[in-house]
Amino acid sequence: MTGRIGLSTPDLGATEEEFLIRAFRSGWPGPSGPETDRFEVEVAARVGVGHAAAVSSGTAALHLSLLAQGIGAGDLVVVPTLTFAATANAVVYTGARPVFVDADPATGNLDVDLVAELLLAPPRPGSRIAAVLAVDINGACADYDRLLPVCRAAGVPLVEDAAQALGSTYRGRAAGSFGRIGTFSFSWNKIITTSSGGMVVSDDAALIARCRHLATQAREPVPHYEHRDVGYNYRLTNLQGALGRAQLRRLDGLVERRRTLRERYAKLFATVPGTRILGDGESGSNCWLTSLVVDPEVAGWNAEELGAHLRERDIETRPMWKPMHRQPVFAHCPARVTGAADRLFATSVSLPSGSALGEEQISRVLDVVDEFLQRR
Ligand SMILES: *Cc1c(COP(=O)(O)O)cnc(C)c1O
Repeated sequence: MTGRIGLSTPDLGATEEEFLIRAFRSGWPGPSGPETDRFEVEVAARVGVGHAAAVSSGTAALHLSLLAQGIGAGDLVVVPTLTFAATANAVVYTGARPVFVDADPATGNLDVDLVAELLLAPPRPGSRIAAVLAVDINGACADYDRLLPVCRAAGVPLVEDAAQALGSTYRGRAAGSFGRIGTFSFSWNKIITTSSGGMVVSDDAALIARCRHLATQAREPVPHYEHRDVGYNYRLTNLQGALGRAQLRRLDGLVERRRTLRERYAKLFATVPGTRILGDGESGSNCWLTSLVVDPEVAGWNAEELGAHLRERDIETRPMWKPMHRQPVFAHCPARVTGAADRLFATSVSLPSGSALGEEQISRVLDVVDEFLQRR
């Protein structure tokens, strides 16, 4: 069988088609509308929080979550160095500066000891750390049992970038619900997609109302156009809301498929020395991406060789994110690093993880991995 196999591709079917067509025929594509409103209520219920505002992307959700808390110029925000650039970009949009913190090598999530050190002694005397922005990497929640008390003791709010983690839990609680405010992404490659989209969630009604206000050009509720703040055109459209509602109905099944795929990789690599699956043992993870970490000294081969072997056979792979403190655009930002994220970047390969992969495609990936291992 041929055809490119992607890392994480959209999983859309008859339910999505039905919801989209119904919204289309309602004659109300957008801006927001009844489908957007229902999508917000349903996501809030799923996450177990009081309020949600649907927006045009996960990046917009992050931007608003910071703005709504009054974060801006002069502030510092703790950001994991191992994340997608959007997390750090959103901080810069507000005028604040990211302070990068390294990862726990076992999970890839924030190193809580480093966060604790940083909150006790900020990088610049007199500077205010306005928030800790935690990312649930590959869908596995950060170590909130330890992180939340550290933030609470310092009086610094936690913001949860749960872009990758819809459907995940940590100690039985849903991802997205751990911070003062949390964000999701419904980008094309996330666990559910609205083609592009995002959500801000919180128990704080005023914060979410503020996000919604800023997302709709900060238009005051009067008949003429009145604006007291700089606003944004960040709302999720009614059509996208319909797509999101259909995807949300299928979420448990989509998580199940990714988890099963993770288990098959885990089984394959269980007997391969020098390999481990990042965050394996995080039972609540939605398994959004499966990243293999390879110790080349023990394995006798490295992650890049496996990645290249798969790519040559039209199977998409990628190393984990290049750490933010290594990015030219963020080189001037303060950072507390141990080298853990650098090592994960250098020794990891993310494997096709999408729920849309059929049995034939999965078998092909596993066969090609097997073929690589046989040749070593
Ligand atoms: C995808 C992602 C985002 C950005 O979401 P978009 O919807 O693409 O804007 C932010 N943070 C993390 C960790 C992500 O994976």
